[in-house]
Amino acid sequence: FVFYRELPKVELHAHLNGSVSFQTMEKLMSRKPHLNIEHSMTAIGKGQRRTLDECFEVFKVIHKLVDTEEDILMVSKDVIREFAEDGVKYLELRSTPREEQRTGLTKKSYIDTIIKAIHQCKNEGLDIDVRLLVAIDRRNGMEVAMETVKLAEEFMLSSDGLVVGIDLSGDPTVGHGKHFLPALERAKNCGLKLSLHLSEVQSQREESELLLNLPPDRIGHGTFLHPEMGGSQSLVDKVVKNRIPLELCLTSNIKGQTVPMFSLHHFKYWYQLGHPTVICVSLFLLNQQCKVFQCSIRLNPLSFHLQTDDKGVFCTDLSQEYQLVASTFGLSQKEIWKLSQQAIDCIFAEDAVKQQLKKRWQDLHPQVF
Ligand code: 5GP
Repeated sequence: FVFYRELPKVELHAHLNGSVSFQTMEKLMSRKPHLNIEHSMTAIGKGQRRTLDECFEVFKVIHKLVDTEEDILMVSKDVIREFAEDGVKYLELRSTPREEQRTGLTKKSYIDTIIKAIHQCKNEGLDIDVRLLVAIDRRNGMEVAMETVKLAEEFMLSSDGLVVGIDLSGDPTVGHGKHFLPALERAKNCGLKLSLHLSEVQSQREESELLLNLPPDRIGHGTFLHPEMGGSQSLVDKVVKNRIPLELCLTSNIKGQTVPMFSLHHFKYWYQLGHPTVICVSLFLLNQQCKVFQCSIRLNPLSFHLQTDDKGVFCTDLSQEYQLVASTFGLSQKEIWKLSQQAIDCIFAEDAVKQQLKKRWQDLHPQVF
């Protein structure tokens, strides 16, 4: 296990409020006892499954707990620290800016606060490089999407390269991607990178055809893109032609019941195809009981998913995910190393950062596997 703990890692699919650990959740609950929120309402227990709808309901509860600048600062710093403790050297957080009249939180102060957390972590000497994607929640419609892109654009120009892109997420059964095209095109034209949740559910085929024409810079999930899952060769061709890395999230897909079992996960399809997949592990509704991970892999097709145990110690989670990938797919340590290294090519930060990370990986490379 030491190998996996020491493995330098890249995390590219971390929804901020999906990454709140058990310990941080405890702190939030004690700040707001009047809400009467229990852990069972903010987590999906080990072995449990919920419908996708129910998964999204969980976020509503978490959002009630995280509704002030103070909460956002604490959550962001805790999440960053926990990733760093697990050996993550580069992290892309993503989060949907929210406003709360009651607490004076605005969308701008929401993003400002995450940026503040990133700076504070840096000043504290944490060994992790963090960037931010501003998320569009599709449930909020096209006008809010456009506002979000404009806000992200401002921050891209003023944040010293910390805001690097846009994420399209939120309940995939709500709305149609065509409504977001103008906002996404604007984002792309102004230099923001695009990571789009695509084909998470089967009904999104036509939408994916459309959005793949942008094309996005990374794909989240892509569960139903390929023909064996009810997608189409034309979708696969677009992804392959543009070499768009897939962020594959196995445990999340199992927990959300979009994939029936790990062995049937589309990871296998893309891996066998030799398409660049990235592995990133992002936490989905993670806390001590929950242990749900999302894995995005980008790299020579490997996406896997990893599930954590019940220790609730965040710092071991991603390491365990890597270990699980190795055991599930029969990968050697050398292949796992390559996987973590190749993820560097999928990051949204500028080339200089990629070069620094590559050098870092070289320096950390074990003598022997
Ligand atoms: P936040 O944006 O509040 O930091 O993180 C939670 C939000 O991320 C959710 O409300 C949802 O919009 C989005 N999200 C988290 N996980 C998933 C996922 O697996 N699929 C989709 N489509 N959206 C997700």
